[in-house]
Amino acid sequence: MIISMKPRATKTEIEQVFQRIEDFGYKVHSIEGEERVVIGVVGVGDVTACLESVEAMPQVEKAVRISAPYKFVSREFRPGKSQILVDGIEIGGDEFIVMAGPCSVESEMQIMQAAEAVARAGARLLRGGAFKPRTSPYDFQGLEEEGLKLLAQARRATGLRIVTEVMSDRDVDLISEYADLLQVGARNMQNFALLKTLGRCGKPVLLKRGLSSTIHELLMSAEYIVAHGNPGVILCERGIRTFETATRNTCDIAGVAALGELTHLPVIVDPSHATGRRSLVPALSRAAVAVGADGLIVEAHPCPEKAVSDGAQSLHLDEFAAMMQSLGPWISLWKELRVTEAAAAV
Ligand code: PEP
Ligand code: MN
Repeated sequence: MIISMKPRATKTEIEQVFQRIEDFGYKVHSIEGEERVVIGVVGVGDVTACLESVEAMPQVEKAVRISAPYKFVSREFRPGKSQILVDGIEIGGDEFIVMAGPCSVESEMQIMQAAEAVARAGARLLRGGAFKPRTSPYDFQGLEEEGLKLLAQARRATGLRIVTEVMSDRDVDLISEYADLLQVGARNMQNFALLKTLGRCGKPVLLKRGLSSTIHELLMSAEYIVAHGNPGVILCERGIRTFETATRNTCDIAGVAALGELTHLPVIVDPSHATGRRSLVPALSRAAVAVGADGLIVEAHPCPEKAVSDGAQSLHLDEFAAMMQSLGPWISLWKELRVTEAAAAV
């Protein structure tokens, strides 16, 4: 934090500011210029409270925060990339990880067909919502525990790990029994009670960016989970709300690159919710590989025309397999880049 005093601030007033800062547990370093005094503040403490308190003092002109308020998830805290293990599968390492499956778990036949096909095509995790956050209360809300049991059955049959959404802190224990990776949906990115509970759940978390959330807010939400004891956080760019209507959301692909500079946490892209249209999913998936994302989460369904949710953006299973094939050369280049980056980091 840097504090700039007003030009006419007296010695006593400057000392009062020093005292206030020190009361918050910080150290002060002052620089006396020709016109005014500038105070540098260092240390660990409640930055927001200190900033607000100092700003309210009459002879203070401006107080600005310098270091990011998220600590544990920042690149400064950990200069190298983090690898998050999802039951033995490393995300953020030297493999590009694809998670795929239907938007919602609907039936045994649907989830088993989807699981077998996406596993054959090279996905490592099966997605499928058992608890669904729907805009309308009249829409399908998910099979809940029955859906979780079907996911467990698909896991046993295919070896795919399971990623599924948790909407409430009350459901964390139940979902942790079945899921390998707990998904926080866009609508819950700032459900702080949920984030705190996930800090104690002992399983990795896939945190999706909120519909209208900034990257800063996404990182602050990730900080909640880590600060409450869980370092296993993977971020997901799934498109944000803009004035554009040609796509369901606007994928902030540059944001993925920005996250790579700001945080050590892995970042994946959801091209399905980002576009809302299956025809656009392969192109955006290539963009995700090219920008250096750590993986993808893609909706694929045995019969998207009959899907109870998000059919228009779900790939047919053969389209998913074709997309995985076509991503092959891009992923080879991605791997080369990873090796070069890892070597440069040592
Ligand atoms: C989903 O993954 O099906 C979902 C509801 O995603 P989001 O939270 O990103 O809208
Ligand atoms: Mn969906």
